[in-house]
Parts: sequence; structure tokens; C-alpha cells
Amino acid sequence: MAFNEQQLRVAGVQMYSLASQLFPICRSITGNGVRDTLKLLQDLIPLKIHEVPTGTPVFDWKVPQEWNIHDAYIKDADGNRVVEFRQSNLHIVNGSQDIQATMCWDELKENLHTLPDQPDWIPYRTCFHQEDWGFCLTHNQYLELESLGNEQYEVCIDATMKDGSLTYGEFFIPGETDEEVLLSSHICHPSLANDNLSGIAVATHLAQFIGTRKRRYGYRFVFAPATIGSITWISQNQDQLSKIKHGLILSLLGDAGNTTYKKTRMGNAEIDRAVQCVLSHTDADYTINEYEPFGYDERQYGSPGINLPVGCFMRTPNAQYPEYHTSADNLDLVQPQYLADSLDKLVQVIELLEGNVYPQNLKPMCEPQLGKHGLYKAFGTEGNDAEFQKAILWVLNLADSKHSLLDIAERSKIAFPVIRNATDALQDAGLISNHNSTNYLCAAETSSPVSICCDAIDPCIDHNDLSTTNSTSG
Ligand SMILES: [Zn+2]
Repeated sequence: MAFNEQQLRVAGVQMYSLASQLFPICRSITGNGVRDTLKLLQDLIPLKIHEVPTGTPVFDWKVPQEWNIHDAYIKDADGNRVVEFRQSNLHIVNGSQDIQATMCWDELKENLHTLPDQPDWIPYRTCFHQEDWGFCLTHNQYLELESLGNEQYEVCIDATMKDGSLTYGEFFIPGETDEEVLLSSHICHPSLANDNLSGIAVATHLAQFIGTRKRRYGYRFVFAPATIGSITWISQNQDQLSKIKHGLILSLLGDAGNTTYKKTRMGNAEIDRAVQCVLSHTDADYTINEYEPFGYDERQYGSPGINLPVGCFMRTPNAQYPEYHTSADNLDLVQPQYLADSLDKLVQVIELLEGNVYPQNLKPMCEPQLGKHGLYKAFGTEGNDAEFQKAILWVLNLADSKHSLLDIAERSKIAFPVIRNATDALQDAGLISNHNSTNYLCAAETSSPVSICCDAIDPCIDHNDLSTTNSTSG
């Protein structure tokens, strides 16, 4: 296991703290909110920020104009700001065009959005693909204003939509081989915590963890706006795509729901099997969903011309929790222990990918005499030792260079780490070819070519400090 309980608790609090720092920023698919977000991440991981100019062709799309908002409000006849962007950036329809006008309630309400079924929540709405504007508010506030009659209101949206660029962040941690694992998170939502800050926070800490470990694969972290951001990244990196052997979208990782995994387009890729193998050996319930061309950026990575094995790792799926795309997707919905649990499972998946080698039995002519090699003594024992002994026999039997450790774990229904430990013991005894499974990720190492802050896994942090971090982030 990569983390003990205390390390996980520390990591959870730190991820929560990062989400809290990012929460107030008004992100959109372009603009300064995305830049501010990525700059904040640069304090934790040395990611590179890319700017792709407006109008750049990206497959069937073009990089859009850049939207930035400075202020927005609705004022009543007495000059009171009854709806105020500065109180919640969800109050403005994201992508609204600039407007300064006076209008009566009957006209204004055509541009207001509420959730009658959830009258205390503000909806999250966007209008990027048409010239439009609007405000979002709670339905209770809407009813209050409506009760005042056809009053006059001053409407102001101080926003710009003009040529600029689309911004994305990328952080690559090289491995010993050219093969890569892609981890992608969207960064375009304003103050919504689970969708998308939880994904950003977990991805950032996962990068910190991986960066301090010896690794077979290179790890490419992409932080981009949803849809147009991933389309742009793919378009600009076409000559690199063949290196990507496994991929995950990281999103919705901080709510109380169980883990959900949405399979890749192929449905039986190694990453699909790795995630299922890890989840099947955890205590918690989980859900595996088949691929469908809806949801997050797995649609782009899994489009027919790209066809990368990219699944989506989440907890409660998008649109399947009531707070989704509302002001209730906030820092109460997301909690440190769920972020930590997501990180823990993801690290187990990465450990599996790193350790999934094809061992070769060096004494394949009948079973070797295990006692002679110091591997017989635990037979007849119970519990973990008994499982370990079964794993020894499974590995010896299937180690023919054609079965991977994941194949053996699946067939034996024994957890991958036990299979891996058994393989290592067999290797130490000279019964299995040198497969190097222990060399990767399980063992800490120092050859990282980048400077990485590894506070997330520092077990020495004082718990009294954690309570401070926690209280400032709520
Ligand atoms: Zn969303």
C-alpha cells in the first residue's frame, strides 16, 4: 500500500485546501480564470502553460475567442444590487456578452435562470455557442422579485469576448520507457467543487506522488478546458499520441458516493482491467459502466480517429447527483476523506500498471521443490500466508511469458499486490526470470528530473497544523 492512514489523511486535507483556494476563481473555457488556476497549480507542480491563439484550426473546430468578465449585477430602482456577480460567479451565465441596459421585470426575467425544484440553489449555465446573456439566481429570490411587480432594473454585464487564446496546462514526468500514461482533468468550471476542482486537486497530488517514484511509464498530466481544450491538446500533439498506452479522465472525485469507473471505448483495455482488479479487492462497493459517447473528454480521446484507451475515474457520475451543476456542488459536498480515498485507489491502479510484467518460470518442468528454495515453510498456514502460498503456485503455473501478473491476478482472484509479492519472492529464489516488478513505483526513489513538492505524502506533518488548514478552507 502506498499510503498509511495518516499519510492519506494529510493528503486529503491538502487536496481539500487546494480545492478551496481554487473555488472562488471564475473559470470558463478561455480567459484569465483558467490562467489563474494553472498559475496556482504551478506552485505545486512545474506544469507548462500553453496558449493557443483564437482562430487556430483544431480538427473540425477553431479555437474560440477569449471571454473575460470584470463585473455583473442587477440593480433595482433604489440602486441596490439585487443580484451580484461578486457574491457568486454562478450568478452570471458563463460566456454572457457585454450588456448595459435598463429594462422592466417582464423583459428581464426572460434572461433569468432558476431551479424551481431546488429553490435555494443557483444553477450553473453557459452560453458559448450563441451571442446571449443571462443571470442565474435561486428560485426563492426570483419569486421575491416577481412579487414586486413589473419594476425597472438596471442590468450590467461588464465582459469581453475578443481574440486572445485558449489556455491549457501540461506536466510530463518522464519514465524509463517512451510509453506514457495520460491523466486528464477539465478546468473550465467556475465555483463548482466536485465538478471539476476535485479532479484538479487529485491529479495534482497524484503528479506529486508519481514524481517521487521510480517509474517505467512517463506520466502526462493535461489540465484543459472540457471538449475544446482536449480537442486542442489532441490536435497539437498528434505525433505523440502513439506513446499513450493507458489513460484516465479524473473528475468528480470528492463526493461521498462510491467509486464509478467508465470503461474505455475498447472496453477491455489494460486500464479497464487494472481499475476493475483494484476495485474488486477493496472493501467498498463500486460501479463499472460501459463506454458511451457522452460525459467528459473520454469522448475526444475515444473518438474513432484517436482511439486511445482512456477511461473515466470518478465517484458519483456527472448529472447523477442533485447538486451537479448548481451552487450546492460546493466545499461541503466535497470532503477530504473522499478525495484521499480516490487518490489511494488511483495510486493502486498506477502501481498495478507499473508492476504488470510477464514473468517466466525458470524451472517449468513440473513444480519446483519449493522447500529447497525456502518457499515451502508457510504451507498449512491460514489467512494471508495461505493466500500468499496459493499465489506462489498460481504464478509458477502461469509464468510462461504469455501471462501478465494482471492475467494471473484475474484468473486466481487474488489481489494484485499479493501476486506481485509472490512473484518477487520467486524471483529472489531464482525460480522466476528477472522481471523487475519491485523496481517500479512501490519503492521511493530520487531520480526525478523535476523539482516536486511532496508534502502530500509527508507523514511527519503535525496534526495540529491540519486542523488549521481545514478550518481556513471551509
Ligand atoms: Zn460539468
